[in-house]
Amino acid sequence: MARVSLHGLGKRFDNVEAVRDVNLEIADGEFVVLVGPSGCGKSTTLRIIAGLEESTSGEVRFGDRVVNDLTPRERNIAMVFQSYALYPHMTVERNMGFALEQDGTSKGDIRETVRKTAELLGIGELLERKPKALSGGQRQRVAMGRAIVRRPEVFLFDEPLSNLDAALRTQMRMEIKKLHRLLKTTVVYVTHDQIEAMTLADRIVVMDRGEIVQVGTPMEVYERPKTRFVAGFIGAPRMNFVPAAVGSNSVGDLTLAIPGTAPWRIPNAHRARFAMFAGGPVELGIRPEHFMEQAGPESALLSALPDVVEPTGADTLVHFPVGGADVVARSRPERRIAVGEPLAFAVDFSRIYAIDPASGRIDA
Ligand code: ATP
Repeated sequence: MARVSLHGLGKRFDNVEAVRDVNLEIADGEFVVLVGPSGCGKSTTLRIIAGLEESTSGEVRFGDRVVNDLTPRERNIAMVFQSYALYPHMTVERNMGFALEQDGTSKGDIRETVRKTAELLGIGELLERKPKALSGGQRQRVAMGRAIVRRPEVFLFDEPLSNLDAALRTQMRMEIKKLHRLLKTTVVYVTHDQIEAMTLADRIVVMDRGEIVQVGTPMEVYERPKTRFVAGFIGAPRMNFVPAAVGSNSVGDLTLAIPGTAPWRIPNAHRARFAMFAGGPVELGIRPEHFMEQAGPESALLSALPDVVEPTGADTLVHFPVGGADVVARSRPERRIAVGEPLAFAVDFSRIYAIDPASGRIDA
């Protein structure tokens, strides 16, 4: 197993700067997920770690060893892709054991390792089959099995679940998590799916336009996003963004006003976060799950006129306009909500993020 360090990694393709100054320390045995929108540089970063792509600048280390000049094989990594890339003419057993055959491992040892790994993955019955006789989920398990038998120092996953349907994706996600708990191998996992990132990661690395924008545990990134980009990317349905202005009332309290609603007095405990925007605009970030029915001691009250109501079973998503923005609130399924019938929501001030409209920064 290995600690993986990235120091000042950069990658330029002609005139595209795909990766810029990426610095990251991944602990031995840690499960790190690189997440971000299409084109943010996450696959390129993974491919540089794998040795499939050469960086333009910077260093990759496994433990204390600089591996920049090593081939993927010499790095002792195993990679699982979204396209399983199984050999179609070989059985599952040979597919899984092929890398060991190449290394000159004895037939008996290969057989034993492959059987054990297949049992672990629940594909022990499928060893004689060819890939075309397998479902998508079974193929993905074979691809993982092939990676596991090599006992790599680092597992690299590039969107391994994106070809699977939603139900299977959820199931495989849990299996990957269990496997990691069992094998304790360092994992670097790339996805554009924030739910996958939240559920799998020890730490999430959010990337945007070639750069790391935030690193933290899933809950840190969810609760304390540093920028509007991260706030909007992590969490589903995504955070609502509402334009507002910070002013003051006749007795000198700071107030917060959304166009079309009565201003709220900002409680003293939250003054500092809003004071820097006094006399000017601020953008508010409110997550759908933070709209409450009951007001607390430090709540902002909002009246809503729903224009779309979406029951999902577990909860109901209520859409309504606020200050010119369309927002969505998550509500209890039992609450009586109808299009065109006004209702009230309360949001605790501690759940209202103050976003700098110019820079997109959020100061906690
Ligand atoms: P996706 O989720 O769509 O795979 P990504 O976040 O993994 O996106 P990368 O594949 O790392 O992003 O690509 C980062 C940037 O580098 C993109 O602008 C992409 O077009 C560019 N890029 C990637 N590979 C090459 C290449 N071989 N030649 C030229 N440009 C490339």
